[in-house]
Amino acid sequence: MLDKLKYDVLVIGSLNADLVVRTPHFPKPGETISGDDLHIIPGGKGANQAVAAARQGASVAMIGRVGKDSFGPFLVESLKSDNVNTSHVLVDESATGTAIIVVDSNGQNSIVLSAGANGNVSVQDINKLDIEAKVLLLQLEIPLETVIHAAKWGKQKGMIVILNPAPARELSDELIANADYIVPNETELNLLTGVPVTDIASAEQAAKVLLLRGAKNVIVTLGSKGALLVSSHQVKQVDAYKVNVVDTTAAGDAFIGGFASYFLTLESDSSLSDVQEQAPALQINAVKYANACGALAAKKFGAQPSLPTKEETEKFIK
Ligand code: ADP
Repeated sequence: MLDKLKYDVLVIGSLNADLVVRTPHFPKPGETISGDDLHIIPGGKGANQAVAAARQGASVAMIGRVGKDSFGPFLVESLKSDNVNTSHVLVDESATGTAIIVVDSNGQNSIVLSAGANGNVSVQDINKLDIEAKVLLLQLEIPLETVIHAAKWGKQKGMIVILNPAPARELSDELIANADYIVPNETELNLLTGVPVTDIASAEQAAKVLLLRGAKNVIVTLGSKGALLVSSHQVKQVDAYKVNVVDTTAAGDAFIGGFASYFLTLESDSSLSDVQEQAPALQINAVKYANACGALAAKKFGAQPSLPTKEETEKFIK
């Protein structure tokens, strides 16, 4: 019998085609305006995080669904070119997930998200999997029921479950308690807890609400202020790297990919269980490394094109 497929990182999440047009201003209802040429860019938080981890040297498999249209193979081929295994990406009757993005002359975004096939990623899709991984990455661009099941499934299989609760929404205590790490930005943390998050002190207060609800470790990404790690063992703010910011799109995805892959650079499986025991110094080093990945993504335009490689990150940290 063949050995079970074992990856460093498994992502169960979304694949989107981002359709981006720049216009002088947003069209009013009923108005037709001319924009620049259409850019079709691979995206989706799941796929972005898969690429982020793969560029950091992790072996990564993507679990998700695309449609039968031409965007499906485009997204799958793009993941393959970044060495992400796509053999478990299913082809669905629905359209491929798309984000229709209009960018005005001030750089403001207006986005229509069409979940398409992402909306059909199911509990059965997960139950069919015969895969092992060290880390499971989850976001909220597939049905919530599937995310909850995936978190429990991952825990049962001994994976470190990292949940990026984006796009922002309220969540059950069940999901919160099944994640080893919850990594929200300030807006997402605010929506999760109802606590207004305006600075580091309020971020800590809100993260502690999640701990009371069963979270083990919360890492709040704070943009140019870096990130805040809150667990029952420690509270630690880790400063951001100073960079000339061009576009922060996918900075959060780069952060998560970097954070996840940091653990995999450790030699043995015993180090991994140390992480689950919340080895404090290790967690802080992982957050520092993730900050470098986020900063590098903020220095470049676009989502997946801006995600840094391991070599770029190590050079930058030096
Ligand atoms: P999101 O993109 O999900 O809103 P953040 O804006 O908090 O998330 O960014 C994620 C991470 O990227 C931050 O924790 C930080 O490490 C890095 N980052 C983002 N913006 C900047 C910035 N202006 N300068 C340096 N690092 C940044």
